[in-house]
Amino acid sequence: MKTKILVVEDEKDISELVAYNLEKEGFGVSVSSDGEHTLGLVRKEKFGLIILDLMLPGIQGMDLCKILKSSENTSSIPIIMLTAKSEEIDKVLGLEMGADDYITKPFSPRELIARVRAVLRRTQAKPAAEKIMRIGELEINTATYKVSKKGIPIELSATEFKLLLYLAQRKGRVLNRDALLDAVWKDEAFVEPRTVDVHIRRLRALIEDDPSTPVYIRTRRGIGYYVDGDL
Ligand code: CA
Repeated sequence: MKTKILVVEDEKDISELVAYNLEKEGFGVSVSSDGEHTLGLVRKEKFGLIILDLMLPGIQGMDLCKILKSSENTSSIPIIMLTAKSEEIDKVLGLEMGADDYITKPFSPRELIARVRAVLRRTQAKPAAEKIMRIGELEINTATYKVSKKGIPIELSATEFKLLLYLAQRKGRVLNRDALLDAVWKDEAFVEPRTVDVHIRRLRALIEDDPSTPVYIRTRRGIGYYVDGDL
C-alpha cells in the first residue's frame, strides 16, 4: 500500500512542487494550507508522514507540530519541518518540539525525497522487520530465530529451529525424511534418514505438551512428518 504524506504549506508553488515530486516517487499526497484544516485531516485519514512548513497562517507550524506530537493518535506520525534559511533558532526548536527532521528552504527535490525516505526508514524499520509465524500456541519469529509457546521462550538448537520452520512453512504437507534431510541438513555428510527421527523426537520433547501424542508435529506412518494444516 502507498504511504500517504500530508504536505502542510500555504505557499502554493512550494506545496505543488513538493506534492509533484512525492507523487512521482510513488507516494500518496494530500495538501493542506493551514493548521485548522490539518487537524481535521489527521483525524479523518491515516498519514505515514507530515511535511510541515514553519510559517503558516493561523496556528503556526511550531504550535501545530507540538499539538500533533502530543496527541495520542498522531504522536507516532513522523514530521519533517520546512524552514527558511534565516530561521536557525527555529530549526533547533523544531527538533525540540519533536519534529523528526527539517529541510531548509530552498531545497532540491532530490534532497526532499532523500529526507523523506530516511525518516520513513528510521521510523518504520523496527516493528516491521519482525516476522512472526503462529501455529496454535507456538510463535516462531523468523527475524530473531526465537520460538515461544504461550509467551514462554523455548530454547531450540539451530537444526531444531530450521526443522520446525521448514515444516511450519509447509503446513498441511507431509514431508518425507529425504526431503527434510535435503532442506535442513543440506550438504552435511554422515546424516541418514534416522537423523530426522532423532531431531523430531527432540523437537517434540521441547514444544509438545505431551510428546507421546504430538499436536504440532505429526507423523504420517511410513511416509514422514507434517504440521497440521488446521493449526
Ligand atoms: Ca509558508
